[in-house]
Amino acid sequence: MLLNLSTAVRDSAAFVSYVESASGQRISDCYQCGKCTAGCPVSFAMDLMPHQVIRLLQLGFRDEPLNSKTIWLCATCATCTTRCPRNVDLARLMDTLRNVARQEGRTGAGKDVALFNEVFLESVRRYGRAHELGIGLRHNLRTGRLLKDNDLARTWFLRGRLQVRPSKVREVAEIERIFGEIARMEDGE
Ligand code: SF4
Ligand code: SF4
Repeated sequence: MLLNLSTAVRDSAAFVSYVESASGQRISDCYQCGKCTAGCPVSFAMDLMPHQVIRLLQLGFRDEPLNSKTIWLCATCATCTTRCPRNVDLARLMDTLRNVARQEGRTGAGKDVALFNEVFLESVRRYGRAHELGIGLRHNLRTGRLLKDNDLARTWFLRGRLQVRPSKVREVAEIERIFGEIARMEDGE
């Protein structure tokens, strides 16, 4: 018997199938353990957590992941990929979603994300790692939304996940040297 699928369901099935073939991942492999999100260094700034992105894909949602800030904030660090007990390469999945969003001209989150990249890199340059509270505060200050993440910050603080004072890695001089090297390369020296 032929199934009479609605256009919406057909479209969403085609989208998920495209994402799977372009990324080489099986979306149904994810069992929502949340380890990807727990290890993601930029999840604190994301509007959808990494495991939520894949859940939305499993449910056939298209616009929500493609319009999210998350796909642009993903730093392709592959921490999620190495932690996944189901071998889902979420970093590649994010990359595929970014490509689709770019092709469709979905760049709404771009301005915010560019600013976020700036404050994120500044933190890495100063401390050798991301200081989440400082990044969040600086980003909110520069976007004029100082109280935006209050509830989230309180929850993270109570769970012991928010470091109030930044700590530096020992090799911070080496980090500074790498940043200098990159700046010289960008200047074409
Ligand atoms: S770590 Fe893997 S299985 Fe767990 S939620 Fe993330 S993608 Fe899914
Ligand atoms: S690859 Fe992206 S989603 Fe995965 S841990 Fe890194 S920043 Fe987070």
